Amino acid sequence: SQTDKELLYKIHEVANDFFQEQMFNTDEGKTIAYSYFKERELRDEIIRKFQLGYSPEQKNSFTEFALEKGYSKEILEKSGLSIFPENSPNGIDRFRERVIFPIHSFSGRVLGFGARILKNNVKTAKYLNSPETEIYHKSQVLYGLNQGKQAISKNNLCLLVEGYMDVIALHQSGIEHVVSSSGTALTVEQIKLIKRLTENVTILFDGDAAGIKASFRSIDMLLSESMNIRVLLFPDGDDPDSFSRKHPQDYVEKFIKNEAKDFIDFKAEILLKDAGSDPIRKAEAIRDIVKSVAFVQNALKQEVYLKEVSNKFGLSEQSLFNELNVQKQLQK
Ligand code: ATP
Ligand code: MN
Ligand code: MN
Ligand code: MN
Repeated sequence: SQTDKELLYKIHEVANDFFQEQMFNTDEGKTIAYSYFKERELRDEIIRKFQLGYSPEQKNSFTEFALEKGYSKEILEKSGLSIFPENSPNGIDRFRERVIFPIHSFSGRVLGFGARILKNNVKTAKYLNSPETEIYHKSQVLYGLNQGKQAISKNNLCLLVEGYMDVIALHQSGIEHVVSSSGTALTVEQIKLIKRLTENVTILFDGDAAGIKASFRSIDMLLSESMNIRVLLFPDGDDPDSFSRKHPQDYVEKFIKNEAKDFIDFKAEILLKDAGSDPIRKAEAIRDIVKSVAFVQNALKQEVYLKEVSNKFGLSEQSLFNELNVQKQLQK
């Protein structure tokens, strides 16, 4: 309901203040969370800009705080921030002993949180996010959009990265036209959010198997929504966060500008890697690329791309065109 929604926005504001307060003004927060971000080389101004925080170890510190402020158990449960099991009437916080990344709406309201464990060797999931609530629908939100929207318009380009820290690290190196779908597969709704600002997207995913897989999927999604795309894969083991901390800002900017390829070159490079002269592998790669071309919405663009494939592989446009039509039928 509308009143619930208003309360949920309010409770997220309260929680956001609470998590920041815990990080900056408690011994536990300072020694555990603030120092964690310092180890990851974040400057104070950027920690403040993204309103990063800390959820303490104690199992119900936020729940207790919110109950004292007069929020009901019911609304706390609806917010996803607390649970009240039979055997714990005082409630349990969803986020405990984690650093906190608030997730903002386009206009800047806090809708939910991402939360990371502090050590990499712990068995629990590295990131834990808010569940779906009346105000948080993960498929409709892009992390960093609120902080980056002006730069995206100004650059007429949106960089798409995988994670929270990638967005933040790029901001710190002066690159602000960036968003992340934060662990969820890119959705049509998210693409439509970008499209309000620009039709140009450069995909900057991690240089690992998961990053490649995600980039292939995102390419087809973006082409289906008539976006112009380029793709850049970081060196294996690197993501935009680690890369931007290894190199000076102008190097990172140039690297992104110069290394981003169109999707045909990108897919060809990956699919033909260690294919040698194997004709079967080559045919499979070409089919996979034509499959992506079939997602292109504009007939003229489609033909230009097909020409590019034809030149690249020395194949007739006619046979590629036939394959294109097969793929289009399959997509229906
Ligand atoms: P970090 O640099 O903090 O280790 P990352 O962003 O590089 O994190 P990746 O493993 O590359 O982490 O994952 C990319 C993104 O996917 C994360 O930022 C997060 O949004 C999401 N993610 C990763 N692991 C999980 C998980 N276990 N549960 C939910 N989301 C996750
Ligand atoms: Mn990864
Ligand atoms: Mn990563
Ligand atoms: Mn990372």
